[in-house]
Amino acid sequence: NRKFTLVSRPDGEPKPSDFALVEEDLPELEDGSFLVRNHYISLDPAQRGWMSDAESYMPPIALGAAVTASAVGRVHASKNPDFPEGQWVVGLAAMEEYSVCQVGGFTAPVDASLVPSPTNFLSVLGAVGMTAYFGMIDDGKPKEGETLLVTGAAGAVGSLVGQIGKIKGCRVVGIAGGADKCAKLVDDYGFDAAIDYRGKSQAQLEAEIAAAAPDGVDLIWENVGGEIMDAGIASINEYGRMVLCGLISEYNSPEPVGTRNLWYLISRQATIKGFLVRDYPPRFPEGIAQMGQWLAEGKIKHDEDIEKGIENSYDAFMKLFSGGNQGKMILDVSPQ
Ligand code: NDP
Repeated sequence: NRKFTLVSRPDGEPKPSDFALVEEDLPELEDGSFLVRNHYISLDPAQRGWMSDAESYMPPIALGAAVTASAVGRVHASKNPDFPEGQWVVGLAAMEEYSVCQVGGFTAPVDASLVPSPTNFLSVLGAVGMTAYFGMIDDGKPKEGETLLVTGAAGAVGSLVGQIGKIKGCRVVGIAGGADKCAKLVDDYGFDAAIDYRGKSQAQLEAEIAAAAPDGVDLIWENVGGEIMDAGIASINEYGRMVLCGLISEYNSPEPVGTRNLWYLISRQATIKGFLVRDYPPRFPEGIAQMGQWLAEGKIKHDEDIEKGIENSYDAFMKLFSGGNQGKMILDVSPQ
């Protein structure tokens, strides 16, 4: 059982030496538990937070343990009649080839015959899709004719958020890194306008956002933080809302990042709402049904970026921070 383990807590950007690939024997199963052969592992910016021991909504990954991750796989051996051998399951596991799942663990059975690929349970029909769906429906509450600004717009969450905004009748403006991703926002995901943030000052970004959102911004979906978030705030309308989903530009920065434009939230009586998908698994069936329907109707497109091999864990994970990923970042560790 090969495992991608955390050996030291990263200081700033994670380094290869913060991790080790180790091989262990398969564990013995206790009654009620079962062993999953992971096929696909989800790589998420949130894992960077779980590597730290700062206060969070999740316990820190123990040093020496495999890096916590969502995964989809098949039951390989079982001492639990509810999870027979061969059953596909999805849940919180770790970056390893085999994971033991205990009674009452997160792992839920899924029907892999209903989807084009089991990877979809980590992307559009998984936590990422459910983040976009419930974050928009419950917190963003987009209304027809409003302007939605999405940061990290070409990524797994952002691309879905923007498309949900279009379905709900918004003008959607996305911010992403590079000309290719910006072209994709408009051409593939149907955004009304795209802004490339790379190499631009905050003042330039503020000007470009203002031009792309001539009526101001009613709803901001924030994935990035830092200067990009600050630039968006300058265009927020009176009583505007921000769904704060992520702050990826700040995850590797040891220093706190200041914002200059918070004043606008006061002067325009705007609201920020933090969103966590953690509380939503009981409602996933509802979100999966709606996202599944939009997919079937061709109203939503999604991309997956799949790297192969547990030995490539570090490089695949770091694509999230360089922007090298094109869609939901997934590691294929399936048996060859
Ligand atoms: P993405 O697929 O969006 O991949 C991450 C992207 O972030 C990169 O492709 C890159 O895009 C962008 N990025 C990385 N570093 C920077 C930077 N310094 N400045 C600007 N952009 C940067 O990942 P996800 O869709 O999985 O996650 C997106 C956000 O949503 C993250 O902040 C994540 O933590 C958050 N999230 C929150 C959840 C919740 O429950 N609150 C659940 C799931 C995700 P580019 O090339 O455009 O720079």
